[in-house]
Amino acid sequence: MGVRLQIIQEHLKAQQDLSAVERFARLHDEGRAGQGPLYESQIPLTKPRAGQQYGFQVDLDACTGCKACVVGCNKMNGLDPDETWRAVGTIHGGTTHHPIQQTVTTACHHCLDPACMSGCPVGAYEKNPETGIVKHLDDQCIGCQYCTLTCPYEVPQYNKRLGIVRKCDMCQDRLAEGEAPACVESCPNGAIAIKIVDISEVLDDAQGDAFLPGAPSPGITGPTTTYKTQRNLPRNVLPANFYDVRPAAKHMPLVVMLVLTQLSVGAYVVDALLNAQGHSSVSSALGRAHSLIALGLGLLALGAATLHLGRPLYAFRAFIGLRTSWMSREIVAIGVFVKIAVIHALSFWKPELFTWVGIPRLLGTSMDRIQDWLSVITAAVGVLAAACSVMIYVATKRKWWSGSTTTLKFFGTAAVLGLSTMSATTSVTARITGSQDLGATFRVLLAWFVGISAAKLIYEAGMFRHLLDKQQGDLKRTALLMTRDLKEVTIWRFILGAIGGIILPGLVLLAESPPASTAAIAITCLSTLFMLGGELLERTLFFTAVSAPRMPGAIGK
Ligand code: SF4
Repeated sequence: MGVRLQIIQEHLKAQQDLSAVERFARLHDEGRAGQGPLYESQIPLTKPRAGQQYGFQVDLDACTGCKACVVGCNKMNGLDPDETWRAVGTIHGGTTHHPIQQTVTTACHHCLDPACMSGCPVGAYEKNPETGIVKHLDDQCIGCQYCTLTCPYEVPQYNKRLGIVRKCDMCQDRLAEGEAPACVESCPNGAIAIKIVDISEVLDDAQGDAFLPGAPSPGITGPTTTYKTQRNLPRNVLPANFYDVRPAAKHMPLVVMLVLTQLSVGAYVVDALLNAQGHSSVSSALGRAHSLIALGLGLLALGAATLHLGRPLYAFRAFIGLRTSWMSREIVAIGVFVKIAVIHALSFWKPELFTWVGIPRLLGTSMDRIQDWLSVITAAVGVLAAACSVMIYVATKRKWWSGSTTTLKFFGTAAVLGLSTMSATTSVTARITGSQDLGATFRVLLAWFVGISAAKLIYEAGMFRHLLDKQQGDLKRTALLMTRDLKEVTIWRFILGAIGGIILPGLVLLAESPPASTAAIAITCLSTLFMLGGELLERTLFFTAVSAPRMPGAIGK
């Protein structure tokens, strides 16, 4: 009798434990599902004090993964059908006897130190000093998409139709009116709330790496979202997409822009070094050819860069973020580089302009010396621009884009393409001018070209050692991508690099072909083209093979 009573009581108790939908239906029937007292417990009734800000709080025990928050956010914010500022993913772990699976809703974390904001070249982000909400200023955005790389949580979303990025602003206008944000209001289970968080506690959590299992480290930006649960999550909990290794976006205009800029910078550096060694002085025609080729490539790079912008007409605003953004610094540095390169080319092709203005008299020196100095200044500004390019990617804290890897790749590209272009230019110039004096210059260029090309390829191949890593870390994922999904790109990268950088120039060196010979011209031009193709593929892998920890169900593609 006692057992029966217990079973009946258990059934009655279970019947009272309503599902989320049933609970919502009951609230609706009771007229409590709209605005009003229902949300009082889910939005703050006071403004944050000094040392505090607003933050999302997600009750993992209440989240059922129904995605009502995703739909509510999309509808109430008037987003495009394929646009989403909130995502729902899954974490799982435990043992076969006690498996754990938990859905997780995620959006912008309105970080203490928002990387989206510090990286933006046009100041299109602002952090409200009172509420801490990080808002994207759509009108200010030029669509460079750099914030989609700097945000560790893949929050900012690029809208192709509008040519700008957009993201969650915690429905700050609704909050200001005492209304709940779209996601808070849409969740039938009350799993999302806005709370006032203490900045010191967020910093402590970031210090202790306490955020969400498997998610990007909170130490990068200080995310203010709190995930709470009554359960003890096992230590092996990971996002369900943890082993999902997929290529990242190609960013082709950036690939072309980076490689061509580095080629141009490399050509100027090689030219300046030749001048310093007294090689170039044997032929002013060589200087003329070098200046024109390097400038043309610099201009091409600038053109390619604008193709990456959603709103290129507003690119002139890019200096606004100079104080914090490496992208801003890169854009300004490349702009100055190209302008000085134009003056450098004019010094060779229109020296009479300088004489007319009286510059040689003013400086008390010859036109030759002015050309040499311009060559050094252009090369120095170019190196500065390339260093800014390196920092753009280092700032994202991805391992594949670490300081050492990115520096070696970018400056390696500048070196090999600068040397190959200059050796081809030297060969063609020797033929046109009939000069017999360029042989030494030609051989020095080729020898350095072969050496640096071989070193660069060996360094890149070293990446494959991560295939042996026991842990599925970021670099192992990159190595897996390069040998699986991106296998063909990888193979062609090494084939083109080896033919263009080692075999072809090696043949010219071994045969001791004079620079003016048809064979030397044909082979050096061909080797430059192969090398250019190889470096474009290397840079494609730089973007597509990158991997970083991801939020469960991360929004980014
Ligand atoms: Fe910016 Fe990303 Fe932090 Fe949101 S989560 S504030 S987009 S860095």
